[in-house]
Amino acid sequence: MLVTGGNRGIGLAIARAFQEQGDSVAVTHRGSGAPDGLFGVQCDVTSTDDVDRAFGEIEEHHGPVEVLVSNAGITRDGLLMRMRDEDFTDVVDANLTAAYRVAKRATAKMVRARSGRMIFVSSVVGLLGSAGQTNYAASKAGLVGLARSIARELGSRNITANVVAPGFVTTDMTAELPEARQKEILGQVPLGRYASAEEIAGVARFLASDAAGYITGAVVPVDGGLGMGH
Ligand code: NDP
Repeated sequence: MLVTGGNRGIGLAIARAFQEQGDSVAVTHRGSGAPDGLFGVQCDVTSTDDVDRAFGEIEEHHGPVEVLVSNAGITRDGLLMRMRDEDFTDVVDANLTAAYRVAKRATAKMVRARSGRMIFVSSVVGLLGSAGQTNYAASKAGLVGLARSIARELGSRNITANVVAPGFVTTDMTAELPEARQKEILGQVPLGRYASAEEIAGVARFLASDAAGYITGAVVPVDGGLGMGH
């Protein structure tokens, strides 16, 4: 299985969760190297050539990718009025177009195997919206359309495509938020705390398991109740 952006944060927790159950796990990194015990491939997911080369290396080392977790993502927050075009297009490229790139590259082998699992890491804000994150929320909402279209296109080949929509998770990404904003967010979370990366990983592992064989096109919130109703 492959986790993009599996060198740290939520992606690393997902990689470890699959590794724990004995799977062959590959992660992408952008020069940091692979974490201990994981097979790492250098890959910037905004480059189709990088994605193709990375899949080639994984296929040589582990065989075809049977479970794909598209997790790599960035934020570049700012108010709409002041947003630069490249802040929008770069975020869409890294969060949405990259998911299309890896899904496309994984598809031929999954179709041949008549089996495959694709999991896209979106965000609660994809459906809820978020002031100051038009670029990020649009990219994360786009993943829902991508996954659901894949679910329809490839369902007959026994390939599932699902979305995990985390709320706020303790990682480098959220550590950047000002303390006042963090407090404000927690005030809106029924469970009153952030998620751990492991709580996201557990859901990704479930969606790849035999128990989830009949789940496709689903958006699974892991957000402490923050996005209820959306
Ligand atoms: P981090 O910022 O901790 O890690 C981001 C990961 O994505 C890193 O591994 C990073 O690699 C990788 N990445 C970013 N851009 C690229 C690229 N162009 N090519 C390859 N890898 C790239 O983020 P999180 O772990 O918090 O987030 C993981 C995912 O979960 C993201 O998609 C995020 O949007 C989503 N999410 C996070 C939430 C949170 O509260 N933290 C909430 C909801 C969703 P590198 O180390 O090289 O920078």
